[in-house]
Amino acid sequence: MLRLPHWIDGKPTQPGNGRWLDVFEPATGQPFAQVAGGDANDVETAVAAARNAFPAWSSLPNSERGRWLHRLAEALEARLDDMARAEARDGGKPITLARNVEIPRAVSNLRFFADAATQFSSESHHGEAGLNYTLRQPLGVVGTISPWNLPLYLFTWKIAPALAAGNTVVAKPSEITPHSATLLGEIAADIGFPASVLNIVHGRGPEVGEAIVAHADTKAISFTGSTAVGRRIAGIAAPMLKKLSLELGGKNPTLVFADSDWRSNLDVLLRSIFQNAGQICLCGSRVLVEGGIYAEVRDALVERALSLRIGDPLDADTQLGPLASQAQYDKVLAAIARARAEGGNVLCGGNAIERDGWYVAPTLVDGLGPDCATNREEIFGPVATLQPFDSDHEALALANAGDYGLAASLWTRDLNRAHRLAAGLRTGIVWINAWLMRDLRTPFGGMGQSGLGREGGLEAMRFFTEPRNVGIAL
Ligand code: NAP
Repeated sequence: MLRLPHWIDGKPTQPGNGRWLDVFEPATGQPFAQVAGGDANDVETAVAAARNAFPAWSSLPNSERGRWLHRLAEALEARLDDMARAEARDGGKPITLARNVEIPRAVSNLRFFADAATQFSSESHHGEAGLNYTLRQPLGVVGTISPWNLPLYLFTWKIAPALAAGNTVVAKPSEITPHSATLLGEIAADIGFPASVLNIVHGRGPEVGEAIVAHADTKAISFTGSTAVGRRIAGIAAPMLKKLSLELGGKNPTLVFADSDWRSNLDVLLRSIFQNAGQICLCGSRVLVEGGIYAEVRDALVERALSLRIGDPLDADTQLGPLASQAQYDKVLAAIARARAEGGNVLCGGNAIERDGWYVAPTLVDGLGPDCATNREEIFGPVATLQPFDSDHEALALANAGDYGLAASLWTRDLNRAHRLAAGLRTGIVWINAWLMRDLRTPFGGMGQSGLGREGGLEAMRFFTEPRNVGIAL
């Protein structure tokens, strides 16, 4: 069986405790590989390696660090098909999505921050009290912890700015989807990427993840995952006064107004609900529709949901694959049962699909108000609710109901309404007549229970550096 080791000090590394964890193929529900089941001792080894590598890496010219990231991007791109297969195999992600969107985006993450290494600059202030300039220096060893839903996409989104800014990294991918990160470790070694600059430690979150967070020598933690785990990490990091970036869950509203071009955008609306089987933090899981078009939009979405091609993630025609894990499958089915118990009207789906693996039918539910658990708690599966509204005021109140605040997508042709609502929505991201339209320079992240801090562009480079004010008497 395929074995996926840690990558520490530029080498494949066995878990010190000799423990290996099964990695499952969601399309069959069967294990196909094993991943290192690391622990705090492996984290210690990785942090020591990263600490030793820091002086040399941080003192390279920025352009040289940028060149290394460009080389890594190029080598990753050359292995695009292998990577897409890896993502489809352990994450259950449709291979077309991995090949056309996610791996190319991982390549772009590396390229974007390779360029950022040479373009990042800091401020100077003068005219009031001498001359002050801000010196921005890398932090040292930083920890990154990423989830299973967009494995390499989010892994690279974190390590790229950390490395570009001159830090060395101890990175933990999810034990559910460890394949692509392991391949990246291999690729880095193949191109002679400076050893120990990027260390990858596998294992369970409570063991490896917490050991990275709690280690006195990790100077910052960049985490993407659930709100519950984010809270736990904050509980460990806050008393240590450790820098923390938390990208957490969402319960995103999609607002569809009667004057919008919703018919010609049905494909996007459908994708915003069901892409990656709804396992994207940015997916719209609460569709709010203006009363006059409610029945028409509801029927069109149901018809399109029923036509999604469900199948093997390795099949290029598949649009909807299985959920990534048994735990996620159980959680989503329980959420659907709860929607029924709350009085929801299941318009389509609502059941597991009779085949091997962790497949759940695309599910739309209506008849539930904003206060029920179905409309307040993240489900993270191919499930969305529909609610009607009759005014802008009501639409905004429904959209802002709940504790999350990650992303909203707003569909209207009325420019004034679009800007008014964009300013009133309590989310870190608002898309107008679009969904998941990304410019890597923009601040990315959520408010409320969706997180703390922002990633992307300058925000990420600032997070991974320490500003020091230097004042000179003139
Ligand atoms: P998760 O259970 O919180 O896990 C995320 C990562 O944290 C995994 O690598 C996990 O390791 C690790 N982890 C688990 N317990 C830990 C602990 N006690 N200490 C340190 N690390 C720990 O989240 P998930 O189920 O993988 O991902 C889905 C969630 O991520 C959803 O809530 C989704 O909305 C959110 N998400 C947010 C964004 C965003 O940008 N805001 C993007 C994507 C996903 P193991 O898996 O190996 O245990």
